[in-house]
Amino acid sequence: MYGSIEAGGTKFVCAIGNSKLEILERVSFPTTTPDETLEQVAAFFKQYQTQLASIGVGSFGPIDIHHDSVTYGHITSTPKLAWQNFDFVGTLKKYFNIPIAWTTDVNAACYGEYVAGNGKGLTSVVYYTVGTGIGGGALQNGAFVEGFSHPEMGHMLVKRHPEDTFLGNCPFHQDCLEGMAAGPALEKRTGTKGENLLAEDPVWEIEADYISQCAYNTTLMFAPDIIIFGGGVMKQDHMKKKVQEKFAKLVNHYVTTPAVEEYIVTPKLGDNAGTIGCLALAQDATINA
Ligand code: ADP
Ligand code: ZN
Repeated sequence: MYGSIEAGGTKFVCAIGNSKLEILERVSFPTTTPDETLEQVAAFFKQYQTQLASIGVGSFGPIDIHHDSVTYGHITSTPKLAWQNFDFVGTLKKYFNIPIAWTTDVNAACYGEYVAGNGKGLTSVVYYTVGTGIGGGALQNGAFVEGFSHPEMGHMLVKRHPEDTFLGNCPFHQDCLEGMAAGPALEKRTGTKGENLLAEDPVWEIEADYISQCAYNTTLMFAPDIIIFGGGVMKQDHMKKKVQEKFAKLVNHYVTTPAVEEYIVTPKLGDNAGTIGCLALAQDATINA
């Protein structure tokens, strides 16, 4: 059996799965302090200790992913103070001395869609989550795109919509995608949480404008086979079509992408993309160990 940890800023989701990447058991608890939360994580996996081969972790970040770094496996400069410089993998290893795969939450979801979702069989897959924040991960030939660190595509700059007076919500950048288009930006603009906004609300045109700029930038940077948009905000069914249409206008036939209905999509695995990705990464870690 394999373990999955989706470490989010508001909640942790832990799961157990088998070699077919079927989810057998899943629990969730709020993210509090590292000590308290990791104790809960450990208590869950202890029940399966004799069968547990490895664990895959998809974490909020930024995180240190470089194996040769002294702070490998740490969460680094997160605004969540209690978690700054927390040695996540090291702490987990103290509880379970088995292979631990370690990547970002969005990379894990990207991997899930790549092995078992809409990215299956493709070479180049990009995944974004549009939720409390916006994050992106990219896979090329089965390997995550990374350099000095993992990408932070959610903070790309976007061109302000002419009717948008909202100043943005990111403490680091003006007019970055996350600050303009993550769930909290929708809520601050309208005074209403995204899930409670009507599909006819004009704010969705602005929202789709920013997400289509993201798809446009992604297309020209990576020319991927597919761009998958997940996260709470994309549960608005009307959004996908709006983004596809605005994207086509932005590209203006400059490049010929795959048919937009198959190119800009939502995750086939839905909310399970991250968990299945973590299970698959855990499985890979046993092979590579
Ligand atoms: P997280 O990013 O914390 O893992 P979500 O992906 O569910 O979790 O994102 C939460 C954000 O998405 C919140 O800002 C919430 O208001 C918004 N949201 C959640 N569900 C919907 C929905 N159905 N439609 C629009 N916005 C939503
Ligand atoms: Zn930003």
